[in-house]
Parts: sequence; C-alpha cells; structure tokens
Amino acid sequence: MRIVVAGGGSAGHMAASHMRHHFPEADLVHAYDPRLPAIGVGEGTTPVFTEWAEKVLGWDMAYLTEHCDATPKQGIIFEGWGKAADTYSHYFHATEGTACHLSAERLIRHLSAKSSARIVPEGILEIRSVPPTASVLLANGQTLHADFVLDARGFPQELAERDVPLACVTTGAAWLLRGPVRAPMDRTRAVARPYGWIFVIPLQHDTAYGYVHTPSDRSLAKTDFRAFLAGEDVKPQTTPRWLPFPNFRRRTFFDGVVLSLGNRASFVEPLEATALGLIVLQLRLATFWLLDQKLGLGQANGVAAMNETLASTIDEVASFVGWHYEMGSNYHTPFWARSATAYADWMQQRPETHSARFSAYKARGKAMPRHLAFVGSAAELNAPIASRDTFGGFLDLSFAKVGYGIGAF
Ligand SMILES: Cc1cc2nc3c(=O)[nH]c(=O)nc-3n(C[C@H](O)[C@H](O)[C@H](O)COP(=O)(O)OP(=O)(O)OC[C@H]3O[C@@H](n4cnc5c(N)ncnc54)[C@H](O)[C@@H]3O)c2cc1C
Repeated sequence: MRIVVAGGGSAGHMAASHMRHHFPEADLVHAYDPRLPAIGVGEGTTPVFTEWAEKVLGWDMAYLTEHCDATPKQGIIFEGWGKAADTYSHYFHATEGTACHLSAERLIRHLSAKSSARIVPEGILEIRSVPPTASVLLANGQTLHADFVLDARGFPQELAERDVPLACVTTGAAWLLRGPVRAPMDRTRAVARPYGWIFVIPLQHDTAYGYVHTPSDRSLAKTDFRAFLAGEDVKPQTTPRWLPFPNFRRRTFFDGVVLSLGNRASFVEPLEATALGLIVLQLRLATFWLLDQKLGLGQANGVAAMNETLASTIDEVASFVGWHYEMGSNYHTPFWARSATAYADWMQQRPETHSARFSAYKARGKAMPRHLAFVGSAAELNAPIASRDTFGGFLDLSFAKVGYGIGAF
C-alpha cells in the first residue's frame, strides 16, 4: 500500500508520523515544497494533541519541553470578555488530560528529523483522485501513484463551491509577532480589544502574540496592538506579520482515496486552539478507514460516515467558538456588535439537531456551579464529570465555564 502525504506543515508532518506508527509496512511518501514555508502558527493545543504525541510519537511533556520549547497549558484565561466579570477561566478538567503550548517551527523541525517517510521535496501541481487510486502530479513532471493521500497543503487560495464558510465569527486575519518570555506560563491569555482579541502564548524561550481581527480593521488593529504591547511593557522581538485566514470547512473531506487534512480541510479562528486536535481526529478516522480496508470489512457507508463526523464536529466547534461573542466584551465597538450578530445569525441557521444538542449542553452547563468559570487554577476544578460525551470536543463542563464566564447564564 502506498500512502502519500502532501504538505510540509504541522499537519503533514503529524500525518507522516501517524501513518508510519500505524502502518509500519506501508510505502510512505511525504511530498512538499520546502520553498513554501509552513504557516508558523498553531502553538496552543488541547489535551487531544498531547495524548496523541505521547501515544504515537512517545513524546511526553518533558520531551516536548526539551525539543519543542513547550510549556504545560492548564487552559485559557479570557480577559475582558462578556459581561460577568473582568476575567474568566476555561481550564481543562483533570479527566481531559494535560495540554501544552509549543513552538510550531520546532515541532515541524523535530518531526521532520524523525521522519521515516521517503521525502519528495517538490512542488505539487495537482492531486487527481480516481477512486480507488490517486495520482499526485509533481512540478518536476513526475507522478506519484497512491492508494491513499493525505492532502495537507494548507489553506486553499480562495474559497470555492467545495467549501462551506463558517460565518460564526467575523475575524479573518491576525497580526503576529514574538516577544520575550512572560508570566503566566501555564495558560494562554485571550484578551478582548476594541477590534478583536489578542492571544498570548507563553513558550520556554519566547512568547507568541497575535491580534485576531476583521481584515478590514487591519490598520486599526495594528495600532491597537502596539498600544497593548506598550501598555504591558513588551518589546517585540520580530516585526509584525499580517496573516489573513478563512473560517471554513470542506463540504466533503474524503472521497475514499484523498483526505483533506489540517488547514486544507477547515479552520475556525484560534480562540479555543482546536485545530491540532482536529488534525488528530482526522488522522484517527483515516486509521480506522485504512484498517477497515485491510481487514476487508469495507463498510459501505464508511466514506459518508467519515464526512458526516468531520462536518458535524467542525460545525460544533464553530458554534462553541462563536458563542464566546454572544455577550460582547468590555468594548462597545462595531467589532463586538458585529460579532454578536454574526453568532446569533449563525445559530439561527443551524439545523434542528445541532441546535437541540447545543441547547442540551448549555442546559447541563447551567446546572453546574457558577464558580467553575472563575477558579484560579485547574487544580480547583473538582466538579465531577457526569458524562464524557462532548459537543465538538467540549464537555458540558466547558459550557458551564463559558456560559457563566461571559454572563450568558
Ligand atoms: C492566526 C492563527 C493562529 C492559529 N493558532 C492555532 C493554535 O493556537 N492552535 C492550533 O491548534 N491551531 C492554530 N492555528 C491553526 C494552525 O495553523 C494549524 O493547526 C497548523 O499550523 C497546521 O497547518 P497545516 O500544516 O495544515 O498548513 P501549513 O502550515 O500552511 O502547511 C502547508 C504546507 O504544505 C506545503 N505546500 C503547500 N502547497 C504546496 C504545493 N503546491 N506543493 C507542495 N507543497 C505544498 C508547504 O510545504 C506548506 O508548508 C492557527 C491558525 C491561524 C491562522
């Protein structure tokens, strides 16, 4: 069996390691254009990623710290969001495991050093899928034939009919830069600002800052970013880089041979740092699919089930992320008004099953104690977990934390 991984960002490198781990005998080829840089973000994780790193790579927290500049992440502190209090916390519960912040550049560098795939350092012109096989056409004129392709070539150039826009949020760009090491080291900060919000991701040797905003507010956000950094006495170590991004998902992700992965498949702004965890979900589904084929089970509705699982999970992530904007913020600006409206419109357009599930999780969250949203550390979260079921990966406990945190309950 030949598996081709296309794309050399975090998703592509994670895919190559994952496939080697589960299919050691496969003819594994990793094709990417080394002249095209990876996106350079994706530095906040959820426990799904760290659990995957330990199981598949054998990398524990100590290893991630040493090699990927990682710091343990208890959760996210929201500053200035909603109308309940100045800050609220969304810490992971002990049963969810631990997460980390890590350097995207080092993760890729370290994964590529460990890769046992055959590397093809070439541009890819096209991936042609004719199930049950596919052809990857390379810029050097060669063609790679494959039984399975993981397409991790990053964001599409522009959205098209194959994509569904996720209008749950109005953001679509970020100003990015790096600063010196800053406390707190054990949590991501998400700071509300007049034109969006700023993430502060603490690593061992530096701090990643990003001002997430609506693209049309590009210069206003840049000026406000400077004011924020000056107010916190942060001396930037890099010049600000502007990165536009789409909020979208594919209509279908998989056709039985080619699976879209990572930013190629979907993205919802980085507020809850869900993207690397979604890559893990996609890789797990790919593994089940391939094992199913190998064992000759070949479930008739396997492709449809995979597409449905991914679409519904990503839509659930989108609703959960959009919900954070429902009650506005400390700033009564057009950005926050637009964002609350976008969330309300998005929710109105959800199918009945989605809305019913969302309401059920909210109701369960509301039944939990209010103080869960305002604890000072993950250790103080001792609420029992009644159910391990999740909505887009979020426990009902997360609904308690966000619902009380923004003042929706
Ligand atoms: C502002 C922002 C903040 C984010 N923060 C987080 C976060 O905190 N946590 C999180 O989980 N996620 C975050 N993400 C998402 C994050 O970017 C992805 O999870 C992660 O980087 C995976 O990216 P990727 O590998 O899919 O794409 P990329 O990093 O873009 O990699 C694509 C690769 O494909 C290759 N390639 C592309 N085209 C071709 C071609 N034609 N031929 C050959 N090779 C090609 C290139 O080598 C390129 O490196 C964030 C995203 C944004 C925009």
